[in-house]
Amino acid sequence: MKFCSECGSAALEFRIPDGDTMARRVCTTCGAIHYQNPKVVVGCLPLWDEKVLLCKRAIEPRFGLWTLPAGFLENGETIFAAAARETLEEARARVEVGPLYTMISLPHISQVYVMFRARMLDLDFGAGPESLEVRLFAEDEIPWTEIAFRTITRTLRNFFLDRKLGAFPTRVSALERRVPREPALAGAG
Ligand SMILES: [Zn+2]
Repeated sequence: MKFCSECGSAALEFRIPDGDTMARRVCTTCGAIHYQNPKVVVGCLPLWDEKVLLCKRAIEPRFGLWTLPAGFLENGETIFAAAARETLEEARARVEVGPLYTMISLPHISQVYVMFRARMLDLDFGAGPESLEVRLFAEDEIPWTEIAFRTITRTLRNFFLDRKLGAFPTRVSALERRVPREPALAGAG
């Protein structure tokens, strides 16, 4: 941020306010403290029989790679409503949002992913404006090397493992900054 959203001043400094523990942008003109907190990405794992619905991204980042329908929670919105909305927008699919499945913290980019299991209500789906293609995949058809985000890979891997085990506990985890790979292993995306 370059200007104070309270008074328009450009006189912002980055410092720890009195009584706080972290540095914030503080306006030296009006005294406003500009807190910034993580964003919540909400989505779901839409299921039809044994198959999972994936969307091929028509937008950056990760254009052309596959993902589960997910996006930023809006102000004033519940996480259930966000999961259903993102699925309708990206996959044109209507779902009954089910139990919370994965929550994944991404501290290096200040995001939290919240993914639900969901049941598709019908087979009337298709690519929304943010998708190139939307398809149902059986486990052995999942394009593992073309998944857009590690949160989605983790959610899908957990799901297929848990399905074999016969139970779907809520799985809370974190992903840290990606460590550069050995050259021999690079290139898989
Ligand atoms: Zn100000």
